[in-house]
Amino acid sequence: MVIVTLNKRIAPRIVNGHPWIFANEVNNIQGDCAAGDTVEVQTHDKKFVGLGYINPQSQIIVRLLTRTKNDVINEAFFKQRIEKAWRYRQQLGYTENCRLIFGEADELPALIVDKFNDYFVLQTLSFGMEVWKPAIVKAINEIFSPKGIYERNDVPVRELEGLPQIKGFLSEPFNTQIIIEENGLKFHVDIENGQKTGYFLDQRDNRRAIQHIVKNADVLGAFTYTGTFEIHAAHYGAKSVLGLDISEQAVAKANENAALNGLQHIAKFEAVNAFDVLKTMVKEGKKYDVVMLDPPAFTKSRETIQKAITGYKEINLRGMKLLKNGGFLVTSSCTNLVPPDVFLQTIELAAKDAKKKIRQVTFQAQASDHPIIWGLDNTNYLKFLIVEVTDR
Ligand code: SAH
Repeated sequence: MVIVTLNKRIAPRIVNGHPWIFANEVNNIQGDCAAGDTVEVQTHDKKFVGLGYINPQSQIIVRLLTRTKNDVINEAFFKQRIEKAWRYRQQLGYTENCRLIFGEADELPALIVDKFNDYFVLQTLSFGMEVWKPAIVKAINEIFSPKGIYERNDVPVRELEGLPQIKGFLSEPFNTQIIIEENGLKFHVDIENGQKTGYFLDQRDNRRAIQHIVKNADVLGAFTYTGTFEIHAAHYGAKSVLGLDISEQAVAKANENAALNGLQHIAKFEAVNAFDVLKTMVKEGKKYDVVMLDPPAFTKSRETIQKAITGYKEINLRGMKLLKNGGFLVTSSCTNLVPPDVFLQTIELAAKDAKKKIRQVTFQAQASDHPIIWGLDNTNYLKFLIVEVTDR
């Protein structure tokens, strides 16, 4: 096996369990290797670090799959890892829908698998994982006997690994318009053309967290996607709900979802640019009891973090201005480069500028099928905050 030897001084990150090894952390590579090959990583003094897959073309040259020397990286290895991840989800109470594999958090770096009951959507986001895709599909077939498997590898990060953007069936073709259940409600999921894998499973528990504050409320939701938060609000007794999203396709699905749950008389949706509309609404003096914000990630690169923070401040400031005195702001951030403490500080600054006092109702992360691994910062990515907002 090819041996990858690390520099003498290695980042504590690697020692502490982080599976990524950057190209500039490697001292030398002994033997010929091709992208996707399994390699053994050693310290400068020949101590075993782990086994992983290599991609000389990627900045993340090796991603470790195991730190157990006797492990063999083969089909059975992937099956065991998937079984382990499923056992963990079941232990936490998941039965139908869940993120089955959350990449690094399940010791399967760069692999995402979402389980929508009998349907599976996967993403192999590195060359090494792409090589093992047939083994992963085989394991899913053996463990779950699914009705269908689909790949949503139409994501730009694949290009950093020298992989094309593709999507398609990994099973016999099936109808990719499915319906899932969440918190007692039903939602259409478009596996083929929806965003990411089709549905944002990570907000499941957070959607439930709005239950009491939306009762009899006039609710505004921006960045609604297929209307999940808004339909929860209607279900939990809101008087009126307006959801905004820039995507016509998402809004069409949101309307279908409202009808599917018999809530179309309460939950309405509009295809608009939320940044513009929030601004206009503030100018017009519109007021709501609850404002919900769940924008897309504002940045994926360190260079533009400050811009992302400014973006969060701005929309949250607007959200607060749109609230009646004593209303509730429900605000999310999925940008993993904006850590939880920075997000909270940003909300604090927005409140200061808006001359509002805030009282925290709850501060949560993503649902537990997206485990947070301590020391793996990018697994702690979703911030979800509810605050009561009052005039100062
Ligand atoms: N709340 C949703 C997820 C939202 S994802 C859920 O829980 O399912 C972010 C959404 O913001 C996407 O649907 C995207 O279409 C939308 N979006 C992006 N830019 C926007 C803009 N300028 N105005 C309104 N919506 C926008």
